Formats: sequence, structure tokens, C-alpha cells
Amino acid sequence: MKNMTNLIIMGPPGAGKGTQSERIVQALNIPHISTGDMFREAIASGSSFGLEVARYINQGMLVPDDVTIEIVRERLSRPDCEHGYLLDGFPRTLPQACALENLLKEINRPIQCALNIAVDKNALIERISGRRVCPKCGASYHIVFKKPNKEDICDTCGSSLIQRKDDTPESLKVRLDAYENQTKPLIEFYEKNGVLVQIDGLQDIDKVFDDILNVLKGEKR
Ligand code: ADP
Ligand code: ADP
Ligand code: ZN
Repeated sequence: MKNMTNLIIMGPPGAGKGTQSERIVQALNIPHISTGDMFREAIASGSSFGLEVARYINQGMLVPDDVTIEIVRERLSRPDCEHGYLLDGFPRTLPQACALENLLKEINRPIQCALNIAVDKNALIERISGRRVCPKCGASYHIVFKKPNKEDICDTCGSSLIQRKDDTPESLKVRLDAYENQTKPLIEFYEKNGVLVQIDGLQDIDKVFDDILNVLKGEKR
């Protein structure tokens, strides 16, 4: 059976979406489309768009739908998405999910699988408080669960690791509320569409990835 390559990865903040996405896109050779990464790149570039979205992100609030949908529309229309894509952190609201359905219909690349990484709240807090990220290449580490080879240095590109501005207890509370109220209903949306697959995100990083690969290879659904 052919691999599934039109994919969404969902889950609460800190569930491990970025960590698993890095591996999935390498294994399947598809582009990783992370709205969070795109927003952080815009912020780092100092553009007026970056300044605009920073106001929301630093407080843990969602960026407005129209802005978010537009950057995804532009990204999905690029030729490298022709043979598949992994959407990470998008959609996060029902209007985004509906806009995405329409968009994918237009370009005839419907979602084949929506992976939901399930993790409970205590684990999320532990994961987010220990998260360290590379500001240059976006790689994500953890002070206990995924230590870099050299303390505070990115394995991939050698940059100094940082803690995300929105990984504070205050922002996390706002983000978890946004997840509960706006993003969680999407689980049902994709279940109804028949593409939802639940993944136990409480397992270690390698085991979670094994489960995902088995699903994508069509061995388990
Ligand atoms: P996390 O890793 O915590 O799930 P992301 O890196 O995906 O977070 O996103 C970081 C922040 O960027 C979010 O808290 C939100 O402010 C903004 N953001 C990312 N994706 C979206 C989206 N699809 N809609 C609205 N805001 C978004
Ligand atoms: P998300 O993109 O969903 O916000 P990340 O992939 O950035 O999540 O992971 C959040 C933090 O948890 C990171 O520090 C990461 O190294 C760590 N992490 C990811 N997956 C696991 C796992 N299965 N077990 C333990 N820690 C994990
Ligand atoms: Zn790096």
C-alpha cells in the first residue's frame, strides 16, 4: 500500500507535534508546514507582519484566522506540496478547518490522515517547562527527555538554544484554554471526516514515532 502523504498533526501545546513532525517529513520527504514556525520566522525577521503577530503569540493568544489562513494558502500553493505535506499546528479553529477543506478541494489534495497526539495536562506542563528550542533551525529539545549532545547547543546547526517567550506559566494557561475551547472540537470534525487517528503521545519519542509510521504505512488504523 502506498504511504499516506497528505497529513495533519494535531494535539495540545507541548504534545510533541514539532518533534514528531521533524521525523515524519524526513521519512516521507514532504514539506513541514508549521504555522508556529512561520510566525516565529516572521517575528525574527522584524517585519511589520512579525510585529503584528508577536502581540498575540507572546501572550499565548491565537493569531486571527484570516491572517493564518492566508499564509497557509500561500504555502500550500507552492510546487513542493504537490506530492504531500504535513500541516503542524494548523488548523486550530473550526473556521480554519473549513477554509482548509475548501482550499484543498481547489488544489485537489485532500487530507488522508489527521494524527491526534494525545497527552494529559500534567505531562504537557512538564514538557513545555523543560522545552528548549533552536532559534535558527527550529529544532526542539528538552532538558530531561531530549537533551542536546552539548548542553544548550543545537545538535543540527550549533546555535545556542533558547526558551520560547510563550513557554511561561502565564502564556501556557492562555494556550491551554484556547486549545480546550477552539482546537479540541477539531478532533470530532476529523473523526466525522473519517481521517482521524489517535496516537498515544505519553510514550517515549521513539515509540510515538513507530506508531505514527505504522499508521502512515497503512499497517494499523
Ligand atoms: P505549540 O508548539 O505550543 O503547539 P506552535 O509553535 O504551533 O505552538 O504555535 C505557537 C503560537 O503561534 C500559538 O500559541 C499561536 O499564538 C500561534 N499559532 C500557531 N498556529 C496557529 C494557528 N493555526 N492559528 C492561530 N494561531 C496560531
Ligand atoms: P509541540 O510542537 O506539540 O508544542 P514539541 O515537539 O515542541 O511539542 O515538544 C514539547 C517538548 O516536549 C519538547 O521539549 C520536546 O523535546 C519534548 N517531547 C516531545 N515528545 C516527547 C515525548 N514523547 N516524551 C517526552 N518529551 C517529549
Ligand atoms: Zn539548530
